[in-house]
Amino acid sequence: MDRKGILIVISGFSGAGKGTLVKGLMSRYTNYAFSISATTRKPRAGEENGVEYFFKTREEFMNMIDNNKLIEYAQYVGNFYGTPKEYVDSQLDSGKDVILEIEIQGALKVKEKFPDTLLLFVTPPNATVLKQRLVGRGTEDFETIQCRLRRATQEAEGIEQYDYLIVNDDLDECIVHTHNIIQGEHSRASRN
Ligand code: 5GP
Repeated sequence: MDRKGILIVISGFSGAGKGTLVKGLMSRYTNYAFSISATTRKPRAGEENGVEYFFKTREEFMNMIDNNKLIEYAQYVGNFYGTPKEYVDSQLDSGKDVILEIEIQGALKVKEKFPDTLLLFVTPPNATVLKQRLVGRGTEDFETIQCRLRRATQEAEGIEQYDYLIVNDDLDECIVHTHNIIQGEHSRASRN
């Protein structure tokens, strides 16, 4: 595969602030393209189809799988999430670095298919902050928050498979740090 752009996966605990990090990268630098995922999850208040996600019925999502339209997909707390293939391919070919904000199962599938993928894991400074951010967001009910915290504990076991662990304490620093890691990746001899 001879592509100009780098495929970057950003994962992290629900509530780690990865969405904010990605928005910061996109608004501050010009060479990133964000892959909008498809999901069967219902939109949260304020979310729009085609902005945060492409919201799909289960049947529509299954059709995407059957027609090979997804690079990867996974189930997360009762819903399906997947990365549409066409957009990612076209952006990488045009030289953009493409950011996927996906969970760990999907991340590992992408790495298996495309070994050059850069895997970044974002974590809040400690578990208390994680819980505060998740509850403070106010978008999920108690039951869902519990499921997401349990899932965070499981995901912690996979962290060592990532290339970098990024502690999101100060957002501005975190954005610059992440950008620098990606730039460093461009000059790695093994890529060229
Ligand atoms: P949320 O419901 O909070 O938006 O997302 C739940 C989880 O699904 C997050 O960890 C998010 O990174 C992950 N996710 C979002 N899109 C995708 C995708 O296309 N594929 C996979 N595997 N996970 C995704």
